[in-house]
Amino acid sequence: VHGLDLAGASAWFDAFHRRFEAEAAALGDLDRRAGDGDFGNNILSALRRCRRRLDEEPPRTPGELFLGVSHGFLNTGGTSGPLFGMWFRGIGRATDAPVMTLGALAAGVADGTATVQRLGKARPGDKTMVDAMAPATDALAAAVDAGLDLPDGLARAADAARAGALATESLRARRGRAAYVGDVARGVLDPGALTVALFFSAGPPAPGR
Ligand code: ADP
Ligand code: MG
Ligand code: MG
Repeated sequence: VHGLDLAGASAWFDAFHRRFEAEAAALGDLDRRAGDGDFGNNILSALRRCRRRLDEEPPRTPGELFLGVSHGFLNTGGTSGPLFGMWFRGIGRATDAPVMTLGALAAGVADGTATVQRLGKARPGDKTMVDAMAPATDALAAAVDAGLDLPDGLARAADAARAGALATESLRARRGRAAYVGDVARGVLDPGALTVALFFSAGPPAPGR
């Protein structure tokens, strides 16, 4: 079965953690310009909590790994922590098999994104993390239909999430703290959406890429 095994999921999370650490200050700065500036630290502390949880209760499957990540995010302050927690919960619940297929990942991302939208009431175009989650969900579903393997599907999701995140720059926010500042948030990329793009682009690369 082609897909993501525990080692692959673990390497993916580690890569996401490292890439986020490198970007945390810049992402926090975006939140400072359109919100309250705590985004970078909120996610850094969530990622450290995830790491601790995974050390204390080592996952046996990729699903369990993402459930551990979910747990770390759910216990974090800020709006983004619990929303990312529910998103990763959707991914973790997609399968308890030793290998997560692209189909399972696509279903989990769709499920998690639907939950984030239900709880946060943001639609695409509201300048939130949903602007990257929704196109990534669509790209993964299309990749499953096209019979792509997991690394190629993830590369499509990363491109779609990145395009969605970059498109938040010109938007006026309708949800979250950035909605309070109105036109001031125009010209500022949404850090939550950029983090979703960072997550997908940290995924396991296709052989030879
Ligand atoms: P806070 O505003 O509580 O300080 P954070 O700084 O942790 O929250 O997170 C801000 C991010 O949360 C934004 O960049 C945006 O992507 C996301 N966000 C805020 N409100 C919502 C919402 N209602 N639905 C989805 N995402 C949201
Ligand atoms: Mg904030
Ligand atoms: Mg805050």
